[in-house]
Amino acid sequence: MLVSSVDTYCVQSGGHKAGMTGQKAWIFVKVDTDEGVHGWGEAYTQLDRYKNIQQHVQEMARYLVGRSPFNIKHFTTMIYNDFAGRRGSMDLYCALSGIEQALWDIIGKKLDAPVYNLLGGACRSKIRVYANGWYGDAATPEVYADRAVETIKRGFSALKFDPFPGPWRLYITRKDEEKAVDNVRAVREAVGPDVDLLIEVHRRLAPMHAIRVAHSIAQYRPYWYEEPVPAENIKALAEVKAKIDAPVVTGEAIYTKMGFREILEQRAADIINPDVCNCGGILELKEIAAMAEPHYVAVSPHNYNSTSVGLAATVQVSSCIPNFIITEYFVNFEEISNQIAEEPIKMEKGYIKLQEKPGLGIELKEELLLENKMTQQGKRNLRTFDQEL
Ligand SMILES: [Mg+2]
Repeated sequence: MLVSSVDTYCVQSGGHKAGMTGQKAWIFVKVDTDEGVHGWGEAYTQLDRYKNIQQHVQEMARYLVGRSPFNIKHFTTMIYNDFAGRRGSMDLYCALSGIEQALWDIIGKKLDAPVYNLLGGACRSKIRVYANGWYGDAATPEVYADRAVETIKRGFSALKFDPFPGPWRLYITRKDEEKAVDNVRAVREAVGPDVDLLIEVHRRLAPMHAIRVAHSIAQYRPYWYEEPVPAENIKALAEVKAKIDAPVVTGEAIYTKMGFREILEQRAADIINPDVCNCGGILELKEIAAMAEPHYVAVSPHNYNSTSVGLAATVQVSSCIPNFIITEYFVNFEEISNQIAEEPIKMEKGYIKLQEKPGLGIELKEELLLENKMTQQGKRNLRTFDQEL
């Protein structure tokens, strides 16, 4: 069996309806073979950067056609060595991750096995998820609290949110620190003691602010404190981790095993959150998780992707990671994800049940991908010269 063609679809997420995410594009990759078996993958994207990623998939595809879909590890290693000349980037790994997932989908279908049965087998029958994308219009503690209550009514037992006012700044005022603390307090008081609250900091802060806010919200018992400082400075992250009580998370802006080595060596995080649509793919995420095992570091795959293919790939790999704890589910991406999928993935009581369908277990409706095609993205309100950096 040989790869015969690769197609990409760029689809509008609809997530802008919740106000938070802008018009994120999803990129779906369809790999076809000469035996008529096809596979689906999804590449992570960022606002205004999706066209580069789609182009990357198409350039890589020129070297995939004519190869066996079974030689996944050879292909991904070849892309790093030969295609990229050993220079990584987010865009490169987003594209590679989309292709890699599609190859797993093909071989799963060919062998009539779910992907997790090709990766050592499942360690669990259901995957715990936390809700994100639920607080897009929240600017006051009251609205954060209302949205949180609405979300847990749907069955979620864990909520992630960024409580800080925008735009992102390294150095913030006492007033902004206090606003963040008020938002966390309001959500905790609204949802009660049993819901897990995952505090997102989005690589925003200098350590002095990250540490002070962590101390102020400790009384609200956060489940974790995510990316308190920019991802590039691992010593700064380790400094924060040493000085606060909440578990520290990093990893969504780190790619491949190479990127995670120093995080683990320096004991800079308690939990890592690589994304299956940008870390290098399904096998790369499995291997990153295996690297973390002897460091007693847990894995919580990031998933700012559709709740169709990206979530299906996340569920497959999460099921066979022993040190997995929870993964991400974007509630504002459900509507269009459910329209484009033949059999949408269902969240029940904060979990997704593992299915026995072959491959990734998800099929997309190509006519609806075309109907929801991403056109030129509108311009965002990026800060102007008179706004402090
Ligand atoms: Mg994050």
